[in-house]
Amino acid sequence: MIVRMVCVPRDEWSFTMAREPARFGTAQVKGVSGIAHAAVDGGTLCGIPEQQITRYRHLFDPRARRACRDCRRRADAAPTRPCVQERLHNRIQEAAQGRARDDLLAALSKGAEVALWINGPSTTLTRNHARVEELTDGAGSVADALNATMSIVLACVEDGPWRFVVVLPQDGDRPLVARGPRGSH
Ligand SMILES: [Zn+2]
Repeated sequence: MIVRMVCVPRDEWSFTMAREPARFGTAQVKGVSGIAHAAVDGGTLCGIPEQQITRYRHLFDPRARRACRDCRRRADAAPTRPCVQERLHNRIQEAAQGRARDDLLAALSKGAEVALWINGPSTTLTRNHARVEELTDGAGSVADALNATMSIVLACVEDGPWRFVVVLPQDGDRPLVARGPRGSH
């Protein structure tokens, strides 16, 4: 498990420096306990096919003493992945233009905290996380989207005085961005 504890001043923060190491699940060869391999689609990074492995829920740790050497080398060489801010930034590029969207794009590129990014039934999400009644900008379209579909992806970002809510429809529709003042929650 890789835990990143990086504190940098906001004006030095960038997507490039915030990229994260590639992550893999853990697998072991059936009947061979001890050696941990990195799991990928169809098997392990070092090439052991799916039928011969058992997958585990925890992440592959290349630094672990019992990590497969070939998997370790390949995991270390794997391309880094964008941080959560960059991934959300990419998704909301397609949202309709507006102040909320533009301010959120700017906030994400400075490292604003993504407080939540979940998918699930829109009814539960509406009730617990979107808090539509507190939104002052774009609330109507977010409420409509939450009512229109059964299942949805929702992200919340907090930045300065604002709480942004992003709805990412799973049917390929444009993402929606709304915001409201940060409450006392
Ligand atoms: Zn391996």
